[in-house]
Amino acid sequence: MSATKIIHSIPSDPLTGAISVPVYQTSTFVQEAPGINKGFDYARSNNPTRKVLEDVVAKLENGHSGFAFSTGLAAIDAVLKLLTAGDEIVAVDDIYGGAYRLFTHVYQKLGITVNYVDTTDVDNVAEAVTSKTKLIWIESPTNPTLKVSDIATIANIAKSVNALLVVDNTFASPIAQKPISLGADIIIHSGTKYIGGHSDLVAGLVVTKTEALSEKLKFIQNASGGVLGPWDCFLTIRGIETLDIRYKKQCENAYKVATFLKDQESVQEVFYPGLEGHKNHEIAKIQQNGLFGGIVSFSLFNDTQEAANQFVTSTKYFKLAESLGGVKSLLCHPAQMTHASIPREVRLKSGIKDSLIRLSCGIENAEDLIADLSQVFKEINNTKEVLFV
Ligand SMILES: *Cc1c(COP(=O)(O)O)cnc(C)c1O
Repeated sequence: MSATKIIHSIPSDPLTGAISVPVYQTSTFVQEAPGINKGFDYARSNNPTRKVLEDVVAKLENGHSGFAFSTGLAAIDAVLKLLTAGDEIVAVDDIYGGAYRLFTHVYQKLGITVNYVDTTDVDNVAEAVTSKTKLIWIESPTNPTLKVSDIATIANIAKSVNALLVVDNTFASPIAQKPISLGADIIIHSGTKYIGGHSDLVAGLVVTKTEALSEKLKFIQNASGGVLGPWDCFLTIRGIETLDIRYKKQCENAYKVATFLKDQESVQEVFYPGLEGHKNHEIAKIQQNGLFGGIVSFSLFNDTQEAANQFVTSTKYFKLAESLGGVKSLLCHPAQMTHASIPREVRLKSGIKDSLIRLSCGIENAEDLIADLSQVFKEINNTKEVLFV
């Protein structure tokens, strides 16, 4: 979808001609007679501002319907409610920490089994599925080591066992990647990240491929009720208007930052799918429309939390904070922050080392971001004997 199409998929208000989408801050809608209304009856079931967002997101992702939730995790939770006790999930091992916590500490005790595998090797997925597998759950690229999985091939594996393929498309965004067009059945987004894009809201989105799935999701959304409020729907729509230009700038900045990091003495490894040396570079290139995302992770030769702490508290423009995808650059230390709920052994197995630092590049000037990181490395090199050897 071109930037033009995205912008013009957002309708002006049919009632007044307002060019921006009105915020329908209302809980209920007046009816002419019982059951006779203008398509809206109660704001949990539907809301005109939310409807615009849901329709736009469905179009952005080439899906049948969209659903807006209060957070990304509420969106994930709604999808998990398609399952019943005894069902199995095959999930990417490098999964978002909050999804891991939800799977392990909420759904496992309700009788859902989750089998984590490295989905970058599709053979692992083929081996892990059983007749009880109902969902295959992947993120691509993953958080924070940016592993890329072959969505089209995994979609075929899902079909062969009658399971649904769910893709968390938060990192790639609909600008870089269209999982439904590659064969996925359901897409989820943390709208908090690139789609919202300004670090000013939390939101979750689900897009379904078929009418049958849309009906099920609509039922769950209304039955469980974790919907996004009209004001946050408005902000998310406004975010979508600039998604294309923001995401492309973030990709450009991230590529320059990754290239810079690769040459630093104190850096052990750089994770960025846009680098030729990245082990999933080839599939990323094909699958992501030549856009490799705004996130870059790296580890230090001094692979300790202390070294990472010193780094993440020394930058000026990269602010130390959870979350990603906004116009302002952020950095975080996954082991102590976003991935703190994952046991150390599990974390290390999926490549999240003690010193791993994740950068979310914003839309500042690349030279300034590089200068910011550069001054930290200079400081490190001057005080080498202290922490970074
Ligand atoms: C942040 C995030 C989520 C969770 O979204 P919230 O809006 O924080 O609930 C899910 N998946 C990925 C990949 C994320 O980065």
